[in-house]
Amino acid sequence: MTQTITVSCKLEVAPDVATELDETLEMFADACNRILKVAKDKGVKNVTKLHHLTYNDVRLMTGLKANHVCQAIRRVCGNLKASYKIKQFKPTSVSLDARTFRYEEESQVVGLTLIGGRKKFKLLIGNYQRGLLKGYKPTSATLVKRRNGDYYIQICVDVPTQPPGKTPKTIGVDLGRKSIAATSTEKTWSGEKLNQVRDKYSRVRANVQSKRTKSAKRLLRRLSGKERRFQSWVNHNISKQLVAEAGKLNAALVFEDLTNIRKSLNKKPCSKKERRKTNNWAFYSLRMYVLYKSAIAGVTVLFVPPAYTSKTCARCHHIHPEEPKKSYRRREKYKCGNCGWEHNADISAGLVISQLGAAVINSESSVMSCPLEGQLNLLPMGLH
Ligand SMILES: [Zn+2]
Repeated sequence: MTQTITVSCKLEVAPDVATELDETLEMFADACNRILKVAKDKGVKNVTKLHHLTYNDVRLMTGLKANHVCQAIRRVCGNLKASYKIKQFKPTSVSLDARTFRYEEESQVVGLTLIGGRKKFKLLIGNYQRGLLKGYKPTSATLVKRRNGDYYIQICVDVPTQPPGKTPKTIGVDLGRKSIAATSTEKTWSGEKLNQVRDKYSRVRANVQSKRTKSAKRLLRRLSGKERRFQSWVNHNISKQLVAEAGKLNAALVFEDLTNIRKSLNKKPCSKKERRKTNNWAFYSLRMYVLYKSAIAGVTVLFVPPAYTSKTCARCHHIHPEEPKKSYRRREKYKCGNCGWEHNADISAGLVISQLGAAVINSESSVMSCPLEGQLNLLPMGLH
């Protein structure tokens, strides 16, 4: 089994070569649009059929290399089958394959076939990307031009995954309350900086949104890109550390199943600010990063129902009733009304999640095989 990861590398591009890159991007988009039109007119979604219908014409009209045209046909077919459909392809990316792309590890250079032939580009990358690419001979990549005019090559690498080992140990991870993540092993990642960044962008957005000029729209787009990239960077880091820790302790990672979190969080009457904090793809993206990194590292990932995890005492498993004024949670503190146990609220939730995960793992061999919701009191002690 393998897991495909994408390594994004900046290219060193001399001004005179940039023109040829742009031309290739233009022609590739042009090819895609021509193919898309034929596909729609004839109602064809199949790669082979579309190839017969378009290949010769498109090669002649665009002057692209044979494999570029093949990739354009694949791109269009993929797009037609996708849930989100592009109406018009823009000259921002070109799909490359083994014949149009080569990575030379020793010299950190990529060879790309452009409209005028093969050109070499130096990769401007750090140790992180070099490490990801080490020892691989990637055969597919995407050439991308970003909005700021920089060129990137996104290299696909098939990393072998390890079968997850069986382990009785679990690390519970609580996501997105006060901290971005908190674990039952007492590690937390503060959301403060992230929230600051988000609030800043949201303020600027609110300012700009009222103006409907072209430059305002451009600014909005740039902001969303910056915010997203910062969030991605944060999520990469957190997921990397979580998976490393689980690997080191030979433990499974346990998360709440947040599939419906948007619904349930939005039900509560919370401020606009609060809603914005929960109603984004950040949780989803963090869990996706964890899943693919875990697959590579051979770490088990489990999901448990999110009910009661923040209301349950990790020591005596007493579930508190919801009484807003007599809250057992005071800001970052959790205090059990039954046994008096006190702890950081996020870590406390992490502990409960970890215990739930342990119950799931051990359910194969023990009596705990019932649905978990509402059964927390039956949990054995000290499993985490
Ligand atoms: Zn308690």
